[in-house]
Amino acid sequence: MRKYVIMGVQGSGKGTQSELLCDDLDLVHISVGDVFRWHVQHHTKLGAQVRRTVNAGELVGDDMVESVVRDRLDQHDWNFGFIIDGFPRNGRQAEFFMESYDIDGVIHLELPDDEVRRRVLSRRLCPGCGMDYNLIADRPKVEGRCDICRTELITREDDTPEALAGRLRDYHEKTRPVLELFRRKEVVYDIDARPAVEQVQASIRKVLGLPAYSPPE
Ligand code: AMP
Repeated sequence: MRKYVIMGVQGSGKGTQSELLCDDLDLVHISVGDVFRWHVQHHTKLGAQVRRTVNAGELVGDDMVESVVRDRLDQHDWNFGFIIDGFPRNGRQAEFFMESYDIDGVIHLELPDDEVRRRVLSRRLCPGCGMDYNLIADRPKVEGRCDICRTELITREDDTPEALAGRLRDYHEKTRPVLELFRRKEVVYDIDARPAVEQVQASIRKVLGLPAYSPPE
């Protein structure tokens, strides 16, 4: 059983790196942001409660976040383990998490703010199938259309310069201290997130002692 937390500023590749690890090692990727976005898109009661906050890129209240995380982990569909992404984001969430679950390590993806801006503002999402694109590194074959389902690509509502500035501020003020908390109790692996996706994946596996990454043919 492998249980990890992945941390890093928006755009540092948490989702991409988690998916690569999960596909190969049968881990479950738990993205708290994805859970909230799903509720917003599907107009659930919870979605209505968090829509404005999520669209503005602000942090949802701790009670609600904790209950979403608890419900998700209570499903126990993670026989081989999980990677939790986007949580914890502040001191209180970290305390709750460390009291309730033990983990094998924290993967910390480090990326300078300038590079974050460059990446996040070029990010596009397919509202049809959920596929992510990036106009710098991962362009769709036909401009503005999803390669898989042909739906018109959109920009996430929280990927605007204003929302991003707020999220960077939140990250530095609230999330960085979480890392310091973790460093006292858990093993934190610092990874340079600037290189190409495959290289970052290889570095993560090396420090965690996992089987080497072999990119698809
Ligand atoms: P993300 O995809 O991780 O950037 O999350 C998208 C949005 O979901 C955030 O901007 C917050 O509104 C909300 N969210 C996700 N994770 C958390 C968390 N741990 N605490 C509070 N809000 C969160």
